[in-house]
Amino acid sequence: MITVKTSNELLKMRKAGLITGGALRAAGSAIHEGMSTYDLDRVIHDYIVAHGAKPSFLHYNGFPASACISVNDTVIHGIPSKTEKLKKGDIVSVDVGAYIDGYHGDSAKTFAVGEISPEAQALMDSTEQSLMAAIEIAKPGIRIGDISHVVQEYNESRGYSVVRQFVGHGVGRDLHEDPEVPNFGKEGHGPRIVVGMVIAIEPMINEGTARVNILPDGWTVKTADGKLSAHFEHTIAITSGGAQILTLPD
Ligand code: MG
Ligand code: MG
Repeated sequence: MITVKTSNELLKMRKAGLITGGALRAAGSAIHEGMSTYDLDRVIHDYIVAHGAKPSFLHYNGFPASACISVNDTVIHGIPSKTEKLKKGDIVSVDVGAYIDGYHGDSAKTFAVGEISPEAQALMDSTEQSLMAAIEIAKPGIRIGDISHVVQEYNESRGYSVVRQFVGHGVGRDLHEDPEVPNFGKEGHGPRIVVGMVIAIEPMINEGTARVNILPDGWTVKTADGKLSAHFEHTIAITSGGAQILTLPD
């Protein structure tokens, strides 16, 4: 069931989104060569807690950390680790959720560690720009498939592939609500978007094959060919005037 939020609920969701976006920005400022993904997770955890919220991902279906930290060929759901150190030239996707006053925010961003290859930068740019292009068209009256189509077209026309096994989603009292928001689809298909809907749009874009494997830890999702993947996500609210990005930092 797709829930529609009241303006009072949207204020609370902006509060959750602000903390989520702030935690991501703090992560971006902290990232440096030699840092462990465990230490990066601590930065995010401490930011969220210091702002009176709870990390949405911690213990979610048993996930052991506050953020998903996914390096290079890890697409999503990377588990932070004391032994995994960031290296110059890595790209690192950080996915964060914050829960406060009964509502969640959900946002992700891929960061560069030092200087990265032009190929890695181009993949990151395409992924981020496809998210912004989708947000641009999100307004009452269109359908979820219109958003999906924009993301797919943007990335595939640049030679990238779209992960199909994982999708965006509604956000609210639950971290994952209806509807599903795939990064592939047809214009004019899927649920109609109305005022008060809150969705997370989250392109997961691969340099090579769209196929992914889940590691035996049950979480870590890697590209099947070992090539790079990027991930950007915002939680947005649909207003009469278009989309409001709830997870922008101040
Ligand atoms: Mg997320
Ligand atoms: Mg999400």
